[in-house]
Amino acid sequence: MFSCCNCITAEFFLRVHLKEDNLTLPKEITLAKFAGFCYGVKRAVETVKKLKNDYPNRNICVLGELIHNTQVIDELNAMGIKSLKELPQKGDGICVVRSHGESPEVFEQIKNVGFEVYDLTCPDVKKVQQKAIELAKDGYYLVIVGKATHPEVIAIEANAKQFGENVLVATEVEELKPYELELKSAKKIGVVVQTTQMLSTLNKIVEYLTPLTKELLIANTICKSTSMRQSEAKELAKSSDLMIVVGSKKSANTTHLAEILKNITPTIHIETEKELDNHKDLIEKAQKISITAGASTPDSVIDKVINKIKCY
Ligand code: SF4
Repeated sequence: MFSCCNCITAEFFLRVHLKEDNLTLPKEITLAKFAGFCYGVKRAVETVKKLKNDYPNRNICVLGELIHNTQVIDELNAMGIKSLKELPQKGDGICVVRSHGESPEVFEQIKNVGFEVYDLTCPDVKKVQQKAIELAKDGYYLVIVGKATHPEVIAIEANAKQFGENVLVATEVEELKPYELELKSAKKIGVVVQTTQMLSTLNKIVEYLTPLTKELLIANTICKSTSMRQSEAKELAKSSDLMIVVGSKKSANTTHLAEILKNITPTIHIETEKELDNHKDLIEKAQKISITAGASTPDSVIDKVINKIKCY
């Protein structure tokens, strides 16, 4: 991913001697192994590019932005792959459903306006949808842990609501309190969680729900990629003077990552290397710097961050 002929490099470890001055300690820069594209995002980006290459004369578009990354969206745009803010009255060609998934109703709408649907819902997101459907069908009062406005959560909720009306969405206990009587009268409560949520958020909700019901079924559906990224970054943060999280501020998994790390060590969240100068003092002061990145951050953006840090 990154190489520099003046540095000692290992696969995911870089030791960068920044100054000739013997009195200055060298900076130690570590890049997390699980930084950048997860398999769901990688699959989505590679597949839409392949679709355009395979069908250069067909209209290929994505409902919403494929991933939360401006550079990638610009690159797709330049290839002629448009992001649709909303469905047009009449569609032509292939419309891609991104990794967040969509409700069954939206799938129908895409077809009804005339598009061919290409479903790139991440398999891990599909698993959450299936679990939510299963719980709703089995008569559980369903609690989805996630932000109500997150596209993935909207799709999970819509899928579950086909089979049961008792569905709540929350990231805070306060959001559930108005429904406490309903929850208490439910025979059983089931919980699923949006794939990129923090485990601590799930735990708080579970702690609140536990005394309310005799049967509580918890499906920890945080995806493996997210939990490995978070665990690794937490370990790195324990031995780092500074953590740098690279990725979009609109991306839930990236902001969660930064939130978790801030509790362990000084952490900065940047979208590109251009923002590093805003944190010059922190970077200059730190000897051990570790870098991680959200699931929608391309390697090229991470590489530029590393290159720029060498200049401090
Ligand atoms: S973060 Fe997890 S659920 Fe989301 S696209 Fe990546 S692998 Fe899939």
